[in-house]
Amino acid sequence: MKAVIVPGKGKGYVIQDVPEPKIGKDEVLIKVNRAALCYRDLLQLQGYYPRMKYPVVLGHEVVGTIEQVGENVNGFKEGDKVISLLYAPDGTCKYCKMGEEAYCHSRLGYSEELDGFFAEKAKIKVNSLVKVGSSVSDEGAVLVPCVTGMVYRSLRRANLQKEETVLVTGASGGVGIHAIQVAKALGAKVIGVTTSEEKAKIISKFADHVIVGNKFSDEAKKIDDINVVIDTVGTPTIDESLKSLWMGGRLIQIGNVDPSQIYQLRLGYVILKDIKIIGHASATKRDAEETLKLTGEGKITPVIAGTVRLDEIDKGYEILKDKKKIGKVLLKP
Ligand SMILES: [Zn+2]
Ligand SMILES: [Zn+2]
Repeated sequence: MKAVIVPGKGKGYVIQDVPEPKIGKDEVLIKVNRAALCYRDLLQLQGYYPRMKYPVVLGHEVVGTIEQVGENVNGFKEGDKVISLLYAPDGTCKYCKMGEEAYCHSRLGYSEELDGFFAEKAKIKVNSLVKVGSSVSDEGAVLVPCVTGMVYRSLRRANLQKEETVLVTGASGGVGIHAIQVAKALGAKVIGVTTSEEKAKIISKFADHVIVGNKFSDEAKKIDDINVVIDTVGTPTIDESLKSLWMGGRLIQIGNVDPSQIYQLRLGYVILKDIKIIGHASATKRDAEETLKLTGEGKITPVIAGTVRLDEIDKGYEILKDKKKIGKVLLKP
């Protein structure tokens, strides 16, 4: 089968013919229906993920159909449509038992210690599997582990209330355009921030207000008290994000497009306004299941910038980096 392989640290990727994965007792084999491209891939290719094994199959976002089930796998069968969490928890430690498997000590990451999903077929550990109902499309499902379910969990951690207002930076990005929809689905008023006048029109289909520009805090505060900021950009926007927040506000820091930049936090912003900063990265099974339900109810519409084949992955990353495009880039092997 064809797969996108990262041969070594900082060595880019190659499309190769490799043998189909052989599953273990606690694993399933899936046919990949859709995988999704992500900025995390680019950081992994640059060598920012120290736990990566080499060679490794790239890609950590997937929806697929089960073709084969290991002998110790319960609750899943051939033909089931499934997504995978971004990692495989052990299922036995205290965090796993609390339902906080994102904090599992022995968790293994796909496209890190485990092979990822940019391939025709992939193996997944049963502890990572979440079943997808027939009301959810492949496009809607593939966004859950790293995008919609991840955002859902962040808003759960921020204890978002229905009456509150959420501001989303990078609102046209793959995460941003869906973060708006998740916050709306949970009953919040939502403001999207973008730097592009052209994209504002599309963002306004989903958000209650759109602000165009780098300096957004003054305008945001005029619209409403900002209770939660989902910052998908990082160092270029964090100052304005903190300034936007009303007292008791929560800053959810999801993205950081350039990890080489250092940010100096002005503690006064945080202390005097009772602000919580929430670093956030992943989803648990509970979040994935609840987000799949919202997606199935039509409350979250996948926004897709483009879909490419395995052998067109270069083009996929061009679309991902293309500032004119809106939404996620998918891969259909
Ligand atoms: Zn991702
Ligand atoms: Zn565990």
